[in-house]
Amino acid sequence: MTFSVLKCPNCGEEFSINRNKYTCDRCGDILDVYHHDMEYSTIAMKGVWKYKNMIHPEIPNSKIITRGEGDTNIYRSQRISEYAGIKNIHLKHEGENPTGSFKDRGMTVAVSEAARLEFNKTLCASTGNTSAAAASYSALAGMDSYVMIPGKNISSNKLFQAVSYGANIVDIEGDFDTAMADVKQALEKTRDFYVLNSLNPWRIEGQKTIIYEIMEKLKPDFISFPAGNLGNTSAFGKALMDLKSLGKIDYVPRLVAIQAEGASPFYEYMHGNKNSITPVRAETIASAIRIGNPVNYKKARRSIEFSNGIVERISDDEIMSAKRVIDRSGIGCEPASAAALAGVLKLRNSGVIDSGDTVASILTGHLLKDVSFMPEYKTLEVSDIF
Ligand SMILES: *Cc1c(COP(=O)(O)O)cnc(C)c1O
Ligand SMILES: [Zn+2]
Repeated sequence: MTFSVLKCPNCGEEFSINRNKYTCDRCGDILDVYHHDMEYSTIAMKGVWKYKNMIHPEIPNSKIITRGEGDTNIYRSQRISEYAGIKNIHLKHEGENPTGSFKDRGMTVAVSEAARLEFNKTLCASTGNTSAAAASYSALAGMDSYVMIPGKNISSNKLFQAVSYGANIVDIEGDFDTAMADVKQALEKTRDFYVLNSLNPWRIEGQKTIIYEIMEKLKPDFISFPAGNLGNTSAFGKALMDLKSLGKIDYVPRLVAIQAEGASPFYEYMHGNKNSITPVRAETIASAIRIGNPVNYKKARRSIEFSNGIVERISDDEIMSAKRVIDRSGIGCEPASAAALAGVLKLRNSGVIDSGDTVASILTGHLLKDVSFMPEYKTLEVSDIF
């Protein structure tokens, strides 16, 4: 029988999943979920929960809080292939999840866990999409959600979602990193809240399913995605380790984590020789990856090393140029998501990715998530068209 524990990736200490813990008592590292005797089998549920046996085998089905997230489409587009100089480039659209971003995949698992542990209050810091997802799933579960938002720094569409779903909004003076520090402080004072940030290891479990779905359909040489707080980077390597150790894949695709130049502490860390990450003051047009002190950097390093991965960074201009191509192809995404394509183009130009390689790029959020960048357009008179 599979059973799950919270395990420290640094010192190996294990803790019961019935304790509401995020960090190791012994060494302070952020805990992982670890499934003893994990087996690969799917169940008759849609999307994320199809993979229940690899993400939360022990939770009773009656505790699962789901909106049918996951099972998102994979697109191809000639316009995008030409732009990237890669014939076999596939875009998996995570903006098609219920609240419009991949955050729903982690949130369904974390909020279900909050229900299993009988919490009635949730808390998170957010650049926007986490709060939208946290507010929706908490409301669905009948819990009160509290979201710490750097009010002047997030897209009004994302704030609109959180407010509409009934979240209690805590307006933080500062940026995402200030909000995250406030969550950590709250944790030291009270255990009344279930914390939904990506230091929550169950969110990572849910986000693994993006990779399970990709590897069922494609055999990519590279998998690219934007990297901010590094939850996805952590989850994707863990998913590949699962599939490899269970014999479901016979090779490991290279993970390609893309940061914005103005918010690239992980890039600096991976390309430098320091033992810990050096926080930066983050600035980029792509608010979802405007993060200067990512909590998951150690787990993320493990993912990059396991997959012989790449960490690249790109300018805001490169992000917006890629976004225009994705939008004009009819697929569309929010600015941060376009980093996944912009980074591929940069690596194609530098010869790391070849025109014959197969690439899967993950579009993390929906076009409507951020409407502050209206493209130029001109209006016509009726008499102009017939
Ligand atoms: C949260 C988010 C990211 C960053 O993901 P991490 O797992 O924090 O690295 C990227 N794009 C979008 C749209 C997001 O919502
Ligand atoms: Zn430890």
